[in-house]
Amino acid sequence: MIRNLFGIICIATIVVVFAFFNNRTSVPAESPKAKVEVSGPIFGTQYGITVVGDYPGGSVKLEQDAMEILNRINSEISTFNKNSELYRFNDFQSTDKFPISEDTALMIAESMRIGRLLNGVMDITVGPLVDLWGFGHIKKEEGFVPSDEEIAEAKKIVGLDKIHLEFNYNGSFLRKDHPLMRVDLATIGEGFAADQLAKMLNNRGISNYLVHVAGAMRAKGLNANGIPWKIAIEEPEDTIGKPHALIDIHNLAVSTAGSYRNYFEKNGKRFSHAINPGTGKPIDHDTVSVTVIGDTATFTDALDTGLLVMGADKALVFANENNLAIYCLVKTKDGFKARYSRAFKNYLVPIK
Ligand code: ADP
Ligand code: MG
Repeated sequence: MIRNLFGIICIATIVVVFAFFNNRTSVPAESPKAKVEVSGPIFGTQYGITVVGDYPGGSVKLEQDAMEILNRINSEISTFNKNSELYRFNDFQSTDKFPISEDTALMIAESMRIGRLLNGVMDITVGPLVDLWGFGHIKKEEGFVPSDEEIAEAKKIVGLDKIHLEFNYNGSFLRKDHPLMRVDLATIGEGFAADQLAKMLNNRGISNYLVHVAGAMRAKGLNANGIPWKIAIEEPEDTIGKPHALIDIHNLAVSTAGSYRNYFEKNGKRFSHAINPGTGKPIDHDTVSVTVIGDTATFTDALDTGLLVMGADKALVFANENNLAIYCLVKTKDGFKARYSRAFKNYLVPIK
């Protein structure tokens, strides 16, 4: 496992939502079309691209084109690579403005917008808490649980109102109110990366593809069997499991935040990497994953962690009020139960 961008974080959603490549819902009338496929490690997790039909230059060129984009994003927002732009901003112990790339500025702007929409349960300044609980760049001993004082101390330098984005003729800049604040874009980075890959494919005139970066996906057109892409939402177990639901994400984005693969246990209690900025602690409710469908993966990935932190009850109220398509898996004594918003129903297809 490579710990360069999101490190241990991203093992959580390695293909939590994965393509249901072998379509079970209908038998293709003709033989499947040729595909160009690439996949590999990035951001401490995996990416994959399937293009149906030709890609100019074949899989070698596709991999090159993809890696150029993924390496660029990694160099911008990795919280594990000391040379990344975001790492340098986090280590910049000053309240002066710091120049940032257009990508980073876009991710921060979208994160701040969604964070405010979600009343701060999604907060990219959560970095000091992520580090304190041992999910960030600072190594902690196995099962380390911080004291209430340490949590209160870290919370003082967390808050969306304490960072400021500035755009002017010279570029984009970020400023923090406290020199020790740390920004963490792990929750949105995979979605942004999936969107950038999709944009690259669109620009090259590719009209049938599926892209995933960890649990964030974009799909366009038809699969090799000539039917719209379908995605399986996985059974939430510690190992990659069987599909719990099948969704049709024709020309859309989907992403999942889960609390069930990146966690540690202490005295029989699970501590997940999704942190409630209000309490300063990992979530401890029974909602184990939230899947969001939307137009872009940047948008869905920005939302999923916040909705997971809220828990299914509040997340579903929020989703129904805002016409969002979300699917929550909740752990009950009788196994996992799915609960979804009204808008999500349109995308569910029966598993045969
Ligand atoms: P994954 O796809 O691995 O489940 P997510 O998209 O859910 O990842 O992002 C989880 C990561 O986001 C955490 O590991 C942490 O770095 C960061 N994070 C944790 N809690 C929050 C929060 N409340 N708001 C924003 N980012 C968070
Ligand atoms: Mg996310």
